[in-house]
Amino acid sequence: MMRLDKLLANQGFGSRKDVKKLAKKGQVLLDGKPVKDLATHVDPYTADLVVGGKAVHYQKYVYLMLNKPAGVISATEDVKEKCVTDLIGDEFKPYNLFPVGRLDKNTTGLLLLTNDGQLAHQLTSPNYHAEKVYEADILGKVTEDDVKAFEQGVTLDDGYVTKPAKLSIIRSFHERSYIEVSVIEGKFHQIKRMFLAVGKKVLHLHRRSMKGLELDTSLTPGAYRELSEEELDLLR
Ligand code: URA
Repeated sequence: MMRLDKLLANQGFGSRKDVKKLAKKGQVLLDGKPVKDLATHVDPYTADLVVGGKAVHYQKYVYLMLNKPAGVISATEDVKEKCVTDLIGDEFKPYNLFPVGRLDKNTTGLLLLTNDGQLAHQLTSPNYHAEKVYEADILGKVTEDDVKAFEQGVTLDDGYVTKPAKLSIIRSFHERSYIEVSVIEGKFHQIKRMFLAVGKKVLHLHRRSMKGLELDTSLTPGAYRELSEEELDLLR
């Protein structure tokens, strides 16, 4: 059970004060009747609630896919940097969304935002091994030896040996290569450090998918949308 004013504030109808104003105007209907007492407790999932003529369908969790642009950090607030949550519209503010894991400031592509802590934890847990696929522009000629090294595990600057990763060379021309790499772990700067381990530099990194969930290619950088039920099933 949940207090009506809290429920409506959570669902994006403004502050409790705003909700009170709506109720005063007779715009909040419970079981078809205008609500007078917003301290009334209701079951958020089954209450017959209409606000401003529209039925309210209670949603506890929100799941967004964002095409992260370069230049924003994977955080919820920062004194000087722009954060991924600054790209999200006000209607989602009441949900207190946060990014699931991190992409570096200059990395682009698929980033999930949610308020479902359990799912976020599962997806980022080192024991869970969610597969992530990245595309990258590399300075240097990526070779079949590198493909083998990634398959066997490379030693990072701190001595950590990476788990097997699948590296595919899409194009390689002079000192530039365009590759795709799939990893099942998410160490700090992992892809960049893996390429450094084989003497190459990542110029641009873009995440294309996570656990089979593909970034919607119709999302321009900075654009986002809610996941469908089918997409959400891939992550669970
Ligand atoms: N690996 C990196 O090096 N950077 C990212 O943003 C993601 C994976």
